Amino acid sequence: MNGKIYLIATPIGNLEDITLRALRILKEVDLIAAEDTRNTLKLLNHFEISKPLISYHRHNEEIKVDNLIEKVKQGQSIAVVSDAGTPGISDPGEVIVKEAIKNNIEVIPIPGACAAINALIASGLDTTEFVFFGFLPLNKKLRKEKLEEIKNENKTLIIYEAPHKLNNTLQDLKQIVENRKIVLARELTKIHEEFIRGNIDDIISKSDSLKGEMIILIEGTIKKESENPLNELTLDEHYEFYKKQGLDKKDIIKNIAKDKGVNKNEIYMHFINKK
Ligand code: SAM
Repeated sequence: MNGKIYLIATPIGNLEDITLRALRILKEVDLIAAEDTRNTLKLLNHFEISKPLISYHRHNEEIKVDNLIEKVKQGQSIAVVSDAGTPGISDPGEVIVKEAIKNNIEVIPIPGACAAINALIASGLDTTEFVFFGFLPLNKKLRKEKLEEIKNENKTLIIYEAPHKLNNTLQDLKQIVENRKIVLARELTKIHEEFIRGNIDDIISKSDSLKGEMIILIEGTIKKESENPLNELTLDEHYEFYKKQGLDKKDIIKNIAKDKGVNKNEIYMHFINKK
């Protein structure tokens, strides 16, 4: 009979944030697949758990997955843990889950800390709808596309960032976020936990010497459809409004999307066959 795969959330700083269930399952499984075995060993030692560990990180995920699935098929149960927080969230996990599903293996999430969610709930920004961006791409073209998405996104945005890249990313964001509220959530669950709130200039002025783990949260674009009188118009009237101002099709579509707080592709699709 197949074993099971458990995705176990571990603390993001404060060791008290491990759950009783997580501890029990770590004791029960046959094997722990860990992003960094040395790191997880410290956690296991702290809770006096002794288990075989196998390395399972971003760079060997594809290679290790077949071997792990084989072990589960032979009846072993495996816990997947990352260095901190919830596996699969900007951390290894997704590959083994997909493979497990293909092989009819049961996947069981064991809830616990996730930096993004905890940053969001204490941010003071809208929590009803949000978009998680993880780490922004480093590739110039992909990064530009993401920044464009951020510019037009009307839901709260959550971005992970490494401390040494924080300033660079804040400078990129400065070009697009205008006066939207920004929150920097730092060192969550640790001694120096801090939430810095303000507009982008406030955050940049305070972020220079900051160390530790960071999350950037951004208020969604504030323009709500109902607050903009142009949104009372039909799409065709809206189009004509900007056309009379001498804008070309591309800029008209961009402006309408911005007014409505939607992705420009949605507007583009409407006009694709029309003008
Ligand atoms: N899987 C993890 C989770 O569930 O949140 C995220 C892992 S990702 C590789 C690491 C990033 O998460 C960091 O660069 C930082 O943006 C964020 N992060 C992790 N722990 C944090 C903490 N204690 N305080 C603030 N941000 C944290």
